[in-house]
Amino acid sequence: MFVDIHCHLSFPEFDQDRPEVIERLQKSMISLLIDPGTDVATSRKSIELALRFEFIYANVGLHPHEAKTPVSESVFEELAQLAQLRKVVAIGEIGLDYHYPDYNPSAQQAACREMLRLARSLDLPVVIHCRDAWEDMLHLLSEENHSALRGVMHCFSGDMEIANACIRKGFKLSIPGTVTYKRSLLPEVIRGVSLDDLLTETDAPYLAPVPHRGKRNEPAYVRNVTEAIASIRELPLDVAAAGIARNAVELFRLPAL
Ligand SMILES: [Zn+2]
Ligand SMILES: [Zn+2]
Repeated sequence: MFVDIHCHLSFPEFDQDRPEVIERLQKSMISLLIDPGTDVATSRKSIELALRFEFIYANVGLHPHEAKTPVSESVFEELAQLAQLRKVVAIGEIGLDYHYPDYNPSAQQAACREMLRLARSLDLPVVIHCRDAWEDMLHLLSEENHSALRGVMHCFSGDMEIANACIRKGFKLSIPGTVTYKRSLLPEVIRGVSLDDLLTETDAPYLAPVPHRGKRNEPAYVRNVTEAIASIRELPLDVAAAGIARNAVELFRLPAL
């Protein structure tokens, strides 16, 4: 059994062939898929999809790219409503992304804080998107009373030092398909942490793993990610997969897979 804890299956990239994508993931023994939201509209779509399939769950989130200017109060109110619906298992994706030159750090940080508080008030884990902003992200989590927060760094891209800092704050690291790329630094992190700290994702339609690199990614390929982790840790595939599935069930408080 494999788990894709971060997959945008409700995005328009899958509108043409979603039933076939779902058939392929079921044939590949993917037993859990979590579809994150990036704003009000996509969060709503994630929930709609999750309500149609037992093995799909939703996240309600606000991506840092949606905080180019201060986010209005009504957006947070709508997200808070959505977050209380059935099948919503986390707040995400939320976080900081300083990768593109037009980012607005203060608007991003304010939005992220608001969403962290929502997660705390609903006792839900958080799914953090962090790109080129680790220092501010870790600082912000400390300020927002991290001891009451739990969650995952989705599409983890940090080094060993950042990995340890995240784990100390109670976060798991979700490994994406980039682990299969030649120059990835993730193998060192995967070797250096406990299997209990790892999760797997595709972040489809983005970041397809080798041998599918450059094409549209899809949830069935989370198997390639799990195989990479198993080989790096020198574990049988079923042992690595079962451990990672257990981590997901525990973090998102799901029924056993
Ligand atoms: Zn992301
Ligand atoms: Zn994503």
